Amino acid sequence: MFSVFQNEPLVNFTEDNPKQRMQEALTLVVGKLGKSYPVVIGKERVETGHINPSRNPSRMSQLIGNVSDASPELVDRAFESAHSAFPSWSNTPVETRARYLIKAAAIMRRKIYEYSAWLVYEAGKSWPEAYAEAAEAVDFLEFYAREAVRWGQPHPTTQFPGEENEVSYFPLGVGGVIAPWNFPLAILAGMTAAAIAAGNTVLLKPAEQTPVIAAKFMELLDAASLPAGVVNFIPGPGETVGEAMTGHPGITFVAFTGSKDVGLHINQRLATPNPEKKCIPRAILEMGGKDAIVVDENVNPDIAADGIVASAFGFQGQKCSACSRLIAHTKVYDAVLQKVVEKAAKLVVGDPADASTNMGAVIDADSYRKIMSYIAIGRSEGKLVLGGEDSNTSNDGGYFVHPTIFADVAPTSRLAQEEIFGPLLSVIRANSFQEAISIANDTQYGLTGGVYSNSRENLEYARREFQVGNLYLNRKCTGAFVDVQPFGGSKLSGTNSKAGGRQYLGLFLQGKSVCERW
Ligand code: NAD
Repeated sequence: MFSVFQNEPLVNFTEDNPKQRMQEALTLVVGKLGKSYPVVIGKERVETGHINPSRNPSRMSQLIGNVSDASPELVDRAFESAHSAFPSWSNTPVETRARYLIKAAAIMRRKIYEYSAWLVYEAGKSWPEAYAEAAEAVDFLEFYAREAVRWGQPHPTTQFPGEENEVSYFPLGVGGVIAPWNFPLAILAGMTAAAIAAGNTVLLKPAEQTPVIAAKFMELLDAASLPAGVVNFIPGPGETVGEAMTGHPGITFVAFTGSKDVGLHINQRLATPNPEKKCIPRAILEMGGKDAIVVDENVNPDIAADGIVASAFGFQGQKCSACSRLIAHTKVYDAVLQKVVEKAAKLVVGDPADASTNMGAVIDADSYRKIMSYIAIGRSEGKLVLGGEDSNTSNDGGYFVHPTIFADVAPTSRLAQEEIFGPLLSVIRANSFQEAISIANDTQYGLTGGVYSNSRENLEYARREFQVGNLYLNRKCTGAFVDVQPFGGSKLSGTNSKAGGRQYLGLFLQGKSVCERW
């Protein structure tokens, strides 16, 4: 059988070999930009004429590709295609299903620099961020392949005299996968891989901002010879294509990653009764965050600041796990703030195709405007200590925002409560460790959290009391690894699905208990 799962190793771009390979991949991908990508329904490739031109957020004149948008009618056709493929795919032996994913992982691994380069151009990721995402996508394919085989084994029950009893798990049917733009490869591949490894067939809708990398994933599945109809590609707006998918009465589940409002809306749609529905469609929802790092007294400010800056400004703060609140004990507040400002000020903002860039542009004009509006709010709610200027510095129209820090922010202010999704950090003062945790918990969200402390008692207190799905002690609060830190939030951050964990595949399966009396 398959070897034991291991995480794909990351690379160090200060070394010559990875640096050269990434540079070559970036050059290679430039030669592939500007192509057209169709809707994929079974074996059919449909050019719809409704084109979504995907552009490089750091260089708006650069066209990444033209992607055909689907329509509600095409969603219905994609459903029929997935429905026709379901009997054969669900009855394919689980080891065979797993091999398709392991083959896809092998192809992706061979071209990992090329996938990373697509992420640099289409999502605006720096080299290390892009490579880490491509490696995570490989991990999801490898891990869920093995998990499907594990879930396919007999599940023990207590035996009853004169009977044979067993529990086994079956796929749900046709499901929808709706992905965000911020991890347009890893999260999209992860949700899709889990769904199909479990034997379901899928309608896949990428985010409007990053459809080309999703089309590349479709090409990968093709290269791994995944049977037609198992994954059907329906790019397009959430308001039309997404609505048609979540409103389809035959859908048995939706795996969604994105914002709280859209997630809650999908939850409601799936729960809405409809005489044509034959099941309660499952809602697997991973949503936003307002993540905090708490710094206790007696902590080395330099060490804490490294983790805070990486968590707050990595990928321009556009991670659900990003640290958007720093809550510091009053005894270290000034020292930590000073170090964080010093380190953040050194980050290089620019074109992420350049190896020396730490932060590219934010994803699009809407996002830029939203972040700038929070910077305006911050001027009345806090004290600006770094950034904040209108920093649209590109001569090619990219939406750049420099690291921005507001100090002395009140815990209940909008800045400290609402998800901004950009490089904006709010710094809050706490009078005790317990008060810091209580401030951290006082939001609707519960995704990631971090604590820097040297006190065993306080670390244990945080383990118990910090209401988050992923808690990180004495390290940054971003960068979960598959099957190392299963990922997913509590409260209004989602259904706590724990992607990359050993329960995750169960969300795409239904159990059947069979009893035969002899
Ligand atoms: P978004 O909610 O705007 O969009 C996510 C997806 O939903 C996109 O594909 C979009 O087209 C689709 N969509 C929008 N309206 C829809 C509708 N009415 N019906 C069906 N689908 C619809 O989110 P985004 O801006 O792409 O991503 C950023 C958000 O995702 C942030 O809130 C971030 O915290 C969250 N996120 C969460 C996790 C996690 O694991 N919890 C991971 C990554 C991102």
